[in-house]
Amino acid sequence: MSTKSRGAAPVTLAVANQKGGVAKTTSVASIGAALAELGHRVLLVDLDPQACLTFSLGIDPEDLEISVHHVLTKGIDAAEVIIETEDGVDVLPATIELARAEADLLTRTGREHVIKGALEQLAEDLGDTEEGPYDWVLLDCPPSLGVLTVAALTAADGVLVPLQCETLSHRGVGQLLDTVHDVRRFTNRGLEVWGVLPTLYDGRTNHARTVLETISETYDLEVVEPPIPKTIKFAEAPAAGRSILATSRSSKGATAYREVAQNLVERASRPKKKVAKKPARA
Ligand code: ADP
Ligand code: MG
Repeated sequence: MSTKSRGAAPVTLAVANQKGGVAKTTSVASIGAALAELGHRVLLVDLDPQACLTFSLGIDPEDLEISVHHVLTKGIDAAEVIIETEDGVDVLPATIELARAEADLLTRTGREHVIKGALEQLAEDLGDTEEGPYDWVLLDCPPSLGVLTVAALTAADGVLVPLQCETLSHRGVGQLLDTVHDVRRFTNRGLEVWGVLPTLYDGRTNHARTVLETISETYDLEVVEPPIPKTIKFAEAPAAGRSILATSRSSKGATAYREVAQNLVERASRPKKKVAKKPARA
């Protein structure tokens, strides 16, 4: 049964953490595929010049003439660049050219709004088509708190923070939340932190659970359940050009991401919190 609501604006979720290797890209691909299984129309946006998301969806970035870089810096319509994938999701792909976007945008007025603007234009362009606008847009952020991540947070309704539950992993969280607070103050008052998603989770150790509890208490963050178990299956999926939901349909990892997607759908229907005048700093 489909749980989507047609005609409404898409839910835009930024998946961000300036630390690399915490499963941002894996989470975007897997949650995207799970939402598509639920009948939602999904767009994934690759905002990392390493283009791992693009590659993991079976697209060779080197074959692309236009990519998200052209949308953000040259005003090309996203609709012209978007590619359908076998995973049932569409992707706005990246190439290494995106590495230049940070520098290109740095001197541009309104740079924080480039992604928001492109997505609004896209929703307008798709409004009259048979398929209509997307239900979900997931933004795969690069491992930094630079222009692209700030622009992603500016375009988003919510931010999801994948977190590998190991000692010291909280050090980056405070910095990320500071950026979120700045974005709320200056460019996107409605941005909500949807919570942390425990990834690469080794449930056999008490250590992971303790780290997770410490982080969620310290920063007053919700934990999006269930934790994604660490499994070798994830290493195989990107090379196959499909998400783990297709390569290992009934694995623990795929099942966990399906549950997370279901919980995010429920989270999306929650009424928005009133925006605090002065967000408390952690
Ligand atoms: P990020 O986008 O945050 O840099 P990735 O999604 O690229 O992180 O993941 C980093 C590495 O960890 C990749 O090689 C990926 O295949 C692997 N990985 C991601 N999630 C899991 C998991 N649950 N279990 C095992 N390996 C994983
Ligand atoms: Mg990544």
